[in-house]
Amino acid sequence: MNYPGSLTSKLPSVGTTIFTTMSALATQHNAINLSQGFPDFPVSKVLVDLVYKYMMEGKNQYAPLAGIPPLRKTLCDKMERLYGTSYNWETEITITAGGTQAIATAISSVIREGDEVIIFSPAYDCYAPFVELNGGQPVFIKLKYPDYHIDWEEVKKMITRRTRMIIVNSPHNPTGAVFTEQDLEQLAHLVHGSNILVLSDEVYEHITFDGKAHMSVARNPLLADRSFVVFSFGKTFHVTGWKMGYVLAPENLMKEFRKVHQYEVFCVNAPIQYAFAEFLGDAKNYQIDKFYEQKRDLFRQSIQGSRFKLLPCSGTYFQLLDYSEITNERDTDYAIRLIKENGIAAIPVSVFYNVPEYNKVLRFCFAKHDDTLLEAGKILSLI
Ligand code: GLN
Repeated sequence: MNYPGSLTSKLPSVGTTIFTTMSALATQHNAINLSQGFPDFPVSKVLVDLVYKYMMEGKNQYAPLAGIPPLRKTLCDKMERLYGTSYNWETEITITAGGTQAIATAISSVIREGDEVIIFSPAYDCYAPFVELNGGQPVFIKLKYPDYHIDWEEVKKMITRRTRMIIVNSPHNPTGAVFTEQDLEQLAHLVHGSNILVLSDEVYEHITFDGKAHMSVARNPLLADRSFVVFSFGKTFHVTGWKMGYVLAPENLMKEFRKVHQYEVFCVNAPIQYAFAEFLGDAKNYQIDKFYEQKRDLFRQSIQGSRFKLLPCSGTYFQLLDYSEITNERDTDYAIRLIKENGIAAIPVSVFYNVPEYNKVLRFCFAKHDDTLLEAGKILSLI
């Protein structure tokens, strides 16, 4: 069927996301799927039992629109403990249907026609479309290859009277780069005294390596009071399919956020919120950095002698590999050939740019069983 009336797409250049595309291809060709970022190992039984318990206890009706109080209180305590900033659990935190909804709602609650929003590319793919849907104008600044750092002098030059928001993401998807304390200071220095808001995507907060602490914008008082800070239960508890996350922001920003949130989703899954509130009581349940560091190291070691070159990976569960010694093909073409001929699915990094930059790098997800990683490593080593 086709709608017979006139239809002008609001997102004319947007197709299906690369994650859906590559995962579908991986399934079709029975390839090892290291493309879309999701764990292939089981969820904690304790957590699943808690969800069951709360369902059986009858926590099956609407939750309060901002989230259940015990979960919001626990999360605000955790923010204070980890990042030294106190958020008011009643007015400054909202539980969302995943990190992506938090990002979408934050953008639509403050971005208007003509507002400029600075986005660093390569960027996670949902930022720019949400800005455009709200009439905003994405302004892209490239992270500096190969360590993908931000040139803050360049950012300063790109700020105009119309700059309304800067979107940052650390640990960074797709590159695995992380913010340093200097990055926070530079950002704070740039926005302090202006009307610029910050949207900080920190969904990989618990996945940083080599002893590096997560540099949340919440650590810096000059940033905390102008930032939406977005987190994800999916990444931390290996439950991406539950689509649960949360966002913190100062009261006046959160008030605007909730005006949109209440109509978009009203509230999110009640029994899972009770389960998380209890599960978060044990800090060990979210200390996953060493677990993923071991996986990163295993994957890196398994391709040590190969023709792929390892780029630095300081956080997230993604490893970039430079394949320039193997072929001159564009990453989009090579990613497809890698699935069809070698049975490994990865994500081409050029798709995360507004104007594709072909650095010959692919992103591999190592949130997988050790056996899967070793098998993939063996195949990649023979190429
Ligand atoms: N965040 C996941 C990734 O980067 C994908 C999420 C999605 O499929 N939209 O791979």
